[in-house]
Amino acid sequence: MKTYSANGSNTTIRERLGLRPIINVSGTMTALGASIIVPEAIAAMSEIASQWVEMDDLQRAASTVVARLTGGEAGFITACCASGITMAIAGTMTGTNLLAVERLPDDTEGLKSEVIVQLGHIVNYGAPIDQSIRLAGARTVPAGTVSVTQDYHVREAIRDRTAAGLYVVAHHTVQYGMLSLEEFCEICHAKGVPVIVDAASEYDLRSFLARGADIVVYSGHKFLSGPTSGIVTGRKDLVRAAYLQNRGVARAMKVGKESIAGTMAALEAWERRDHARIRKREEAALHLWHDALQGLPGIAAHLIPDPTGNPLDRLQVFVTPESRFTAAGLALALAAGSPPIIVRNHEVERGHFFLDPCNLHPGEAEIVAERLRAVLSAAERPADAMKSARKDSASTSRWPD
Ligand SMILES: *Cc1c(COP(=O)(O)O)cnc(C)c1O
Repeated sequence: MKTYSANGSNTTIRERLGLRPIINVSGTMTALGASIIVPEAIAAMSEIASQWVEMDDLQRAASTVVARLTGGEAGFITACCASGITMAIAGTMTGTNLLAVERLPDDTEGLKSEVIVQLGHIVNYGAPIDQSIRLAGARTVPAGTVSVTQDYHVREAIRDRTAAGLYVVAHHTVQYGMLSLEEFCEICHAKGVPVIVDAASEYDLRSFLARGADIVVYSGHKFLSGPTSGIVTGRKDLVRAAYLQNRGVARAMKVGKESIAGTMAALEAWERRDHARIRKREEAALHLWHDALQGLPGIAAHLIPDPTGNPLDRLQVFVTPESRFTAAGLALALAAGSPPIIVRNHEVERGHFFLDPCNLHPGEAEIVAERLRAVLSAAERPADAMKSARKDSASTSRWPD
């Protein structure tokens, strides 16, 4: 894979801006810049950047592409998946009533304004999902407990004020004890309640609609490698009502022409992508890292499949005290090294992290392998090597210092 800056280097602009040349083995993280945008999308963004366009017509063209790839009746591009969730929910509240669109989020009198979500689906993807609900002016009605949701938890929670059911497909959710999408749809549909699916990171563009969802929202900048954006698809009346929120709450979530054109190009590139070749390249990186970690005391590594069934594996790296690191300490050492390597560390308190092979530039898999061996076989350990995994929001609160 090439790098795409004008002079063929992927470090120049980072150097100029004083940014660390990180290697991302974490995943398509917003905090790391979301994605390596595919060249087709970069070309489309650059081409449209200097042109006037009629935005409703551009979104009409996007609707055709989104519908073709997802099987939805209509669709549009938004700023991101989180904004797509807010817009989809707001649409189930307002329908095509333009005055209601302008009254949101605080004036919901006479509108349906409750959204049912299984408690194990109330996730945080950088912000809490219930805030995406509240931004529409709706109230979250949690169903069930953290570990179990039964059919009656959802059925009995539905009442006149219920606007929608929200179903989340993600590794972030509780992965057991929840209702399946089919069960959730069956219960909601029996009472005339539409189901919105958050499928932000899911490679499968068609199955959630096919399994009963009324509207599905994806990120454009995750698996698709598009610009930062979201994709809304599904039943035409609901997609239309969601789109009308551009005249209301979604004005503050505005998507530009460049992101719409870029996401359309990324969708079309996805259709043509050689998925088998990319999978092979990812597997080669995983095997390289697995081999590099062999024979190191206190370290074990296993390939594990993606928890929601996306066609990719990650390397799970277990770190025990014999290595003279904690998992958190090792992740820190890798991030502090040269070049900095950012691992997938959301389960680090459990003594492991993951290496994700999906976002590498050429040559980076080898650098990661070398760094892993170098850090783990060094005689000296850094001061933080045995650091425990503590939540630390202090540095976040200090920005921009
Ligand atoms: C990433 C993610 C989001 C947010 O997507 P953005 O496009 O970054 O807003 C929402 N839901 C889930 C499950 C996610 O993984």
